[in-house]
Amino acid sequence: MKIEKDIEDFESLGDNHIGTSTDTPMRSDAFRLTNEEKIDIIKDDVRHIMETLGLDLTDDSLNGTPLRVAKMFVKELFGGLNPNKKPSASTFENKYKYGEMLVEKNITVYSTCEHHFLPIVGKAHVAYISNGTVVGLSKMNRIVDYFAKRPQVQERLTIQIVKELQTVLNTQDVACVIDAKHLCVNSRGIRDIDCSTVTSEFGGKFKEKETRREFLDYIKLETQF
Ligand SMILES: [Zn+2]
Repeated sequence: MKIEKDIEDFESLGDNHIGTSTDTPMRSDAFRLTNEEKIDIIKDDVRHIMETLGLDLTDDSLNGTPLRVAKMFVKELFGGLNPNKKPSASTFENKYKYGEMLVEKNITVYSTCEHHFLPIVGKAHVAYISNGTVVGLSKMNRIVDYFAKRPQVQERLTIQIVKELQTVLNTQDVACVIDAKHLCVNSRGIRDIDCSTVTSEFGGKFKEKETRREFLDYIKLETQF
C-alpha cells in the first residue's frame, strides 16, 4: 500500500508539473560511468521496454532503435547534464560603453519534460544590462541550449539560465522569459494543442516595473529581415 501511495503522490506531482528544486537533482555518482558505458546499459533498458510492449526486435526497422535511443539520450537530449559541456565563460570588456539593455530574443528551446520525457519546444528571450562585461551573442543561445538538454521543468530552466548569466556577466541585472509548448500537455493527458506555458525570472534592475516593461515591449516587437 505504501508503494501505491508513493506512486500516486509522484504521479500527481508530475501531472501538475511541479519541480522541487532549482538545481537539477543529480546523484553523487552521476559521472562514475563513461558515456559509452551509459549507452550500453540504457540500450538494454530500451530493448526491455520495447519487448515488454510486445514489439518484435528482430524486425529490421526496430532492430537499431535501442542503441539509437540510448545514444540520443546520453549525447543529445540529456547531454547538458554533464558540467563539462557547459559553454565556456568567455566574456569581453564593454568597449563601446553601451549601458542600455541588450535583448536576445526568439532563442529556440528544445528541452524534455522530466515528468513524462516528452519534448518541450518554444522560445526563450534573454536580456541583460552590462555593468562593464559583455558576452558574445551566440553565448546566450548556447547557455539556453546547455540547460535545455536536461530532463527539465520550465520554471527551473528559466532560473538556471538567469543564474548562469548572472555569474558569467557578474551582475544581477539579467532576465529571461520562456514561452513553450509541452508535448505532454499538447499530445496526451488534456490534449490541448494550442496552449503554451510562459515562465519568467527577473533579476536586479529587471525587478523594477519600467525596466521589466521595456524588456517585455522589445519581445513584442516584430523582427523584420
Ligand atoms: Zn510533462
